[in-house]
Amino acid sequence: MSDTTLRITEIFHSLQGEARTVGLPTVFVRLTGCPLRCGYCDSAYAFEGGTKMSISDITQQVEGFGANYVCVTGGEPLAQPACTELLASLCDAGFQVSLETSGAMDISPVDPRVSVVMDLKTPDSGEVDRNLYQNIALLQAKDQLKFVICSEQDYLWARFKVDEYQLHNRVGDVLFSPSFGDLPAVQLAEWILRDNLPVRFQLQLHKQLWGDKAGV
Ligand code: SF4
Repeated sequence: MSDTTLRITEIFHSLQGEARTVGLPTVFVRLTGCPLRCGYCDSAYAFEGGTKMSISDITQQVEGFGANYVCVTGGEPLAQPACTELLASLCDAGFQVSLETSGAMDISPVDPRVSVVMDLKTPDSGEVDRNLYQNIALLQAKDQLKFVICSEQDYLWARFKVDEYQLHNRVGDVLFSPSFGDLPAVQLAEWILRDNLPVRFQLQLHKQLWGDKAGV
């Protein structure tokens, strides 16, 4: 077991709110810190603070919940270099592991057993210049790519990126999600249908259930 430490904001058991495993009981490991400042961020409480924990202790705590799925999230998990060791350890322990990442960090060191859920930041996130487009070539069918859409401008930009990189042919799912409180969900649904886009519309399940509450 590893003594390598990471700074952790919280570890909790909930239903996966997004992506392919939506609705499945999952343990979330939220790493502290993020170099981005997206306008719609709902986890700013993870920017600072946290508790130092060894990978052995994290793994032990995760095992205590008895779930099969583990989601490593943030903040931006990859901002802590030891995150890649944590991901590999969780895979070694037999969990189905996913990683939520902003798309601003190099994903090449991530263990190939991990399902990567990567954002491409849209113009209205305020962080579009942080996208590391070379990550796209590393994504595979086990992975997912997510756009959080704040406006019609964002939608048109995201639609262009799907076509430009043929994203639907690279990853398991291209996810389009309305930014909670910025864009009516039904508006995004209608645009996707109008344009017959090869993407998956999604609502954040945990927001429907618990609103903006942290740790659920
Ligand atoms: S990358 Fe994620 S955690 Fe970081 S500011 Fe953006 S939404 Fe928040």
